[in-house]
Amino acid sequence: MLSMLCALCGCGAPQPVHREHFAMGTVAGITVYNTRHAQYIDECFTLLNELEAEVSINVPESTISRLNEAGSAQLGGETDAAKILLAADRVYTESGGAFNAGILPLQQLWDIGGRSDGDPLPADDDIEQARQLSLGGFDIGQSGDTVSIKLGEGHGLDLGGIAKGYAGDRCADLLKERGVKHALINIGGNVRTVGGREFRIGLRNPRGTADELYAVVTVGETNVITSGDYERYFTTGGERYHHIFDPDTGRPARSGLLSATVIGGDGAIADGLSTAIFVLGRDEGLALAEGMGYEAVVVADDYKVYCTGGIADALEITDDKFELVSP
Ligand code: FAD
Ligand code: MG
Repeated sequence: MLSMLCALCGCGAPQPVHREHFAMGTVAGITVYNTRHAQYIDECFTLLNELEAEVSINVPESTISRLNEAGSAQLGGETDAAKILLAADRVYTESGGAFNAGILPLQQLWDIGGRSDGDPLPADDDIEQARQLSLGGFDIGQSGDTVSIKLGEGHGLDLGGIAKGYAGDRCADLLKERGVKHALINIGGNVRTVGGREFRIGLRNPRGTADELYAVVTVGETNVITSGDYERYFTTGGERYHHIFDPDTGRPARSGLLSATVIGGDGAIADGLSTAIFVLGRDEGLALAEGMGYEAVVVADDYKVYCTGGIADALEITDDKFELVSP
């Protein structure tokens, strides 16, 4: 989900270099603060292409497409696909299945990106059938350097809700290996900061245009990852049908939230967690974040903002239509 970026805090910040690249179905933008580091931005874009080729369901020969085809796979423990699948399994377990990478049958049935306003909804029976095929997640085990995955009959994986967060961390690692001290990485709204100084990250107004904020959060080096119902959706019968599904209903989640932002160290976990919180709703979602050692900010459909205790002091509401309810 897109969240606006503000730049590095502190006066006298050196001249930034910002480049953008289309990958993973979205725009990735990277900013470094030293012209000599600009070359490393391009290396990150190559890395994003490689990750997309490995885990995209839209690439027929990707690891995930082949896994969905075969129903099982044995992967090297150090592969990106294995690491993302292990993270997906962890968030699935911790969220009680609210985050479920096995969502592909529902995602394909609803085809949110392919429907237009006014289009009919999938039939109830088809929704229930796809929901059954999405339940149960997937079996995953690790022995030595091998990660084995097994899917249920007719099941399929879609890492759309977690792989961008993982990709942000991989880019941050690459930049730091090259000696980059400060950088801002934004992959379709999944923000990853690099460097010890403060960053002010804008959180997008979920009912505004792409450059309208409702808040700014001041952070150090971390992930700031948002999921919401405002990027991919169609409306029919006055209802908004978006791309984050509640595995319990087989329909777009109706949790009373418009967006969920997670702040924390592991990008894949934060990305999966933002999706899970959007499905679970305010109380269960914020408790889940705290239980996993992450901070979170959610916007409810009455424009009230709720957050975990550890981020309240770093959060500044910038649009008075929104009201922060203190934790
Ligand atoms: P998030 O909340 O982070 O994720 C929502 C996405 O996760 C949904 O789109 C769905 O894929 C999945 N999901 C829905 N409900 C759940 C749930 N309950 N639990 C777990 N997962 C769920 N988009 C394109 O249009 N074309 C592409 O070719 C394309 N390729 C991509 C390749 C990769 C490797 C990745 C990571 C994404 C790609 N995307 C592509 C975008 C992708 O389809 C999602 O729309 C996008 O990642 C959603 O991110 P988000 O932050 O908006 O929402
Ligand atoms: Mg996500």
